[in-house]
Amino acid sequence: MQTAFTPAQLDDPDTAHSAGIIRKCVHCGFCTATCPTYVTLGNELDSPRGRIYLIKEMLENDRPADDKVVTHIDRCLSCLSCMTTCPSGVNYMHLVDHARAHIERTYRRPFADRMIRRILALTLPYPARFRASLQLAKLGRPFAGLLDGIKPLKPLAAMLRLAPDHVPSDKVVNAPATHPAKGPRVKRVALLRGCAQSVLDPKINAATIRLLTRLGVEVVVPEGEGCCGALVHHMGQEAPALDFARRNVDVWTRVAAEGGLDAIVITASGCGTTIKDYGHMLRLDPAYAEKAARVSALAKDVTEVLADLDLPLPENETGLVVAYHSACSMQHGQRLTRAPKVLLAQAGFTVRDVPEGHLCCGSAGTYNILQPEIATRLRDRKVANIASVAPQAIATGNIGCMTQIGSGTAIPILHTVELLDWAFGGEKPASLDGVVPVAQPAVAAE
Ligand code: SF4
Ligand code: SF4
Repeated sequence: MQTAFTPAQLDDPDTAHSAGIIRKCVHCGFCTATCPTYVTLGNELDSPRGRIYLIKEMLENDRPADDKVVTHIDRCLSCLSCMTTCPSGVNYMHLVDHARAHIERTYRRPFADRMIRRILALTLPYPARFRASLQLAKLGRPFAGLLDGIKPLKPLAAMLRLAPDHVPSDKVVNAPATHPAKGPRVKRVALLRGCAQSVLDPKINAATIRLLTRLGVEVVVPEGEGCCGALVHHMGQEAPALDFARRNVDVWTRVAAEGGLDAIVITASGCGTTIKDYGHMLRLDPAYAEKAARVSALAKDVTEVLADLDLPLPENETGLVVAYHSACSMQHGQRLTRAPKVLLAQAGFTVRDVPEGHLCCGSAGTYNILQPEIATRLRDRKVANIASVAPQAIATGNIGCMTQIGSGTAIPILHTVELLDWAFGGEKPASLDGVVPVAQPAVAAE
């Protein structure tokens, strides 16, 4: 795509980066076929190509964002399916991140939208506040139907509906500690405790610690780390996102200096995509650029670390039919497609792919709160696709997808690592109580 940025505009490193991305787009439109919002809404402006045009026009003309740009960029899930499809290597992720930051700087949102975004930014990344807000949400749930009737407040209704009935205790797991390897140590890793996941489902990191230490990995849950910054980053709030990133970079740099680090293990693929991008996000900060690039290089999804270890034979017979839902941040953001399924098969599960697996489930960080109608259509489509392979359980690697899909199906949905922990010596997850392997059809004797 031809661009017409002036030399003065290109002096700005972010604009220069975006200009390079836009120039790579050859308008072929392959990306439209795999874009969930284009597939759902059928509007070119809700496709990657349409959004690239809108961003180009806005940036080239040094224009503040207007209602039209904001509507179509807000509808983008940042699922990155378009990046997997694009034959020209267009880095849509960096382009839309820049556009969102530009929107945040130049556009005044309506009051209710500003308020809801502020509530999200001030609660979700902070476990104690998030926990308290979930307790409040339980009390407010009966009013969700009422809020549904007031269009600007629909996100509040979505928030109330997504809150779980039960908020797990904050004790025992996820506290800062060093968990020594059982037997000879083969690796030393830091585990991201994170924010929303540690509140919604602390069992995930508990299973990770059990499994890794059993396999000879020392797991450090360091003091001081926190949200990876993705939640505010995707809302265009650049400064707080970079502050979260710097804080984590400092913590992991300290842990690496103290005893060496083979990896930073992440159990939420949405966070993994962002941490793997810290090197880019902090590239213009001389005090952090190098350290951030080192952190990004060390960042690994838990399944990447497990695939690198010598796994023993499974200790427990599992045998369930599992639908593997690959989160967008896993398959498109990190391009991790094989390892989780291979590990589940090694653990004795019968793994089934989900039709239209490239399409987002509608979770996408805060998307299911801010764009509840599109998110619900995508969820229902995902749930129907999952049901079509008749699984006994669903495995995935991202808490956002677990919450979103779990709100639309009664099939148990677990993190991949919980299933692997069970297979390799852990307890059977409680949500699978009573779920037993389906009897295979008997083969008649000759
Ligand atoms: S990130 Fe996803 S929703 Fe956004 S343009 Fe790309 S494919 Fe479409
Ligand atoms: S597939 Fe890539 S090159 Fe083709 S229109 Fe989409 S972003 Fe542009």
